[in-house]
Parts: sequence; C-alpha cells; structure tokens
Amino acid sequence: MKGVDVKRIPLTVLIREGVSGILSLIYPEHCGGCGCRLDHNGEQRGKPGTVGCDFFLCKACQARIPAPPECRCPVCSHPMQGLFQCSNCEGRRWHLTTIVAACRFEGLVQELIQRFKYGRDQSLLPILSQLMLPALDDTRLAGKKFDAVVPVPLHPLREREREFNQSDLLAGSLAKRLGIPVRRLLKRNRATAPQAGFDRSARLQNLKGAFSLRRPPSADASFLLVDDVATTGTTLDACAAILMEGGASEVCAVTIARG
Ligand SMILES: [Zn+2]
Ligand SMILES: [Zn+2]
Repeated sequence: MKGVDVKRIPLTVLIREGVSGILSLIYPEHCGGCGCRLDHNGEQRGKPGTVGCDFFLCKACQARIPAPPECRCPVCSHPMQGLFQCSNCEGRRWHLTTIVAACRFEGLVQELIQRFKYGRDQSLLPILSQLMLPALDDTRLAGKKFDAVVPVPLHPLREREREFNQSDLLAGSLAKRLGIPVRRLLKRNRATAPQAGFDRSARLQNLKGAFSLRRPPSADASFLLVDDVATTGTTLDACAAILMEGGASEVCAVTIARG
C-alpha cells in the first residue's frame, strides 16, 4: 500500500477487501488451465465435490482432463487392447504391486505438469493434487492400508535447480488426505539422464544404482510411492525394489498421469 494512507480508507472497504483477499486464497479467482475468471456462485466453477478439480478449473477445462483408458493393465496401467498380455509387463518381475494413474499424460494434464515442473509454477500444486486424488479410489488400492507415503527423490543438484521436488509436494497432499505421514526414505545417488526416449533395457541401465535408502523402513511396513508421471514404471519399480529389499511388506504407486 505504498503511497496510500490506510487511515483514510473507510473501514467497510478495508473489511470488504480483506474478506475478498481471504476468499481468493481459498477459492482462486482464475482458472488454472485457461486463465478465465472463475465466479464464486458455481456457474463456471461446477459443483464442488463432483470432480477432483472443481475449485481450480473452469468447467470447460475440467472437460479437457483425459481420463485413463478403460482397458488397461492391472499392474502397470499400460493401455491394453482386449485381454492380451500387457506388452509393458512381458518378461518383467515387478517389485511393486500396482501403479495407479489418475489421468492420461496428454493435453491439458501434460501442459499443467510441465508448467508445474519446468515452469516452476507451484501455484498449480492444488490443481495437480486434486487431479491425482481419484487414483486413491481405484479398486486396485481398495482395502489397502499404507503406513506412509514415500516420494520419488530428485537428485539434490536437480532439486536445487528446480527449487522443489514435485513428488515431495504431491506426497504431502496425498498423505494429508490419507491421514498418514510422508517418509523420505529414498535418496537419488546420481542425477540420471531423463528416461524419455530410452528403451526398457536402457532405462534399467540408466537407473542402476541410482537409488538407495536414506534410512531403513520399519519392518513389514507398506508404502505408497508417489511421482507425477509414470511411463514404463521403471523408475517407480527401482524405488520399490529398494524399499522391498529394505524390509517393506508391499509397495504400490500413484501418479497424476501415465504417459
Ligand atoms: Zn479454464
Ligand atoms: Zn502391464
């Protein structure tokens, strides 16, 4: 308020501005997808509680969220045609039980995740957290009780560059929803090359020795691993392998999207 004498502003205006400021913190003014102005009476915002992203995206943007494919692998969520064996699981021994992704890594979801990670736009965290939450209702996780949420770690150099670890922030939101703690049990020993563009054996080679335990997990604990995007699942499974070798009883994984 530089240059403005607060004492001369009527109290009613100050109260009105204060209330509207607080409201805009709880209910953002603009859609995180297209930037359109959101009203607060539900016209454009949609009914609360129907879709995970109601409060932060306009109805048009909510309609642009690509749902996961109906026919997908129960283990790795890879899209499948009919009932044939999953090509991504062929010849593979998984350490994790399942990877559940809430959306497909396409269109608006891809754009939001890229703005979050590479554009370092942390204001998108509430939207992305809400987009991920429906994954918790997936039947593959039904009846499972997790002891903690574990984020996929970034290498410290990369985390310093980006100023945050997206998986860590997402893990915080999930843990809050589940009422369980976040445990940063894993560390990344080297800054690996991005996995995109590698085939499966190159991905495995790239991740060899990439992760280790920061501290041992409690014996027989079960964990929910969290990352923003899964593609072949190799990174998530490398993390699950370390946790299982460390004595975990089960590891499942949740991501916002699957590429
Ligand atoms: Zn929008
Ligand atoms: Zn599969």
